[in-house]
Amino acid sequence: MLIKANQISKIYGSGENKIVALNKVNLEIAAGDFISIMGPSGSGKSTLLHLLSGLDKPTAGSLTYDGKEIYSFSDKELSAFRRQSIGFIFQQFNLLPVLTAKENIEMPLLLDKKKMDENYLKEISDLLGISDRLTHLPHELSGGQQQRVAIARALIAKPDIIFADEPTGNLDSKSGSQVMKILKNIQRKMGRTLVLITHDNDIASMAERRFVIVDGILSKVMAK
Ligand code: ADP
Ligand code: MG
Repeated sequence: MLIKANQISKIYGSGENKIVALNKVNLEIAAGDFISIMGPSGSGKSTLLHLLSGLDKPTAGSLTYDGKEIYSFSDKELSAFRRQSIGFIFQQFNLLPVLTAKENIEMPLLLDKKKMDENYLKEISDLLGISDRLTHLPHELSGGQQQRVAIARALIAKPDIIFADEPTGNLDSKSGSQVMKILKNIQRKMGRTLVLITHDNDIASMAERRFVIVDGILSKVMAK
């Protein structure tokens, strides 16, 4: 899977209230890449991730996955594409409080009318260290455990690419670094593509390619 963003811009509002959240961003992401994007608050990080994952449409520009222009998909095609190809991890874990960990993980499959692959669930639960927590409700889990459940939910449909928007932002440094080790492992061992937003320089430096975004303008960070 090769992703190409070509001159994507996102403008909110108009006239005096106009905000250029993203300014002509170009980015290529190859299968198996691990990319990090750093930037101050309000610089356009979440906007970029939402556009790259088809959650939102740009004001201008194109985005292709293996040559297919995804912004030209119908809403139905786009949501099917997103469910099958993209996993998303948020800063807020966004688990449904009345469902157990296992039911939360299964949710994307239910939406797609697919059966859970129990062997795969076991494999990722073991990798994430949550096998003995699957029957618990979210409020019975620590923040780090909740985020690991959210990661399992992002992985369960075997997406090609995972987008993570400040996944360690709500975690203490110990659970944060545990979550990062796991994400890095998933990228390396399972060959997944990872696009990660972070405020943390140490986390950003775990990536193979680093970018910064300032006032909606994305630039590459040169290797030292
Ligand atoms: P970051 O994730 O880097 O903190 P965002 O991508 O959330 O930044 O926001 C970038 C800019 O776009 C900010 O100035 C923000 O206020 C603005 N913005 C984001 N979403 C909207 C929206 N739905 N309507 C209007 N302005 C928005
Ligand atoms: Mg954000």
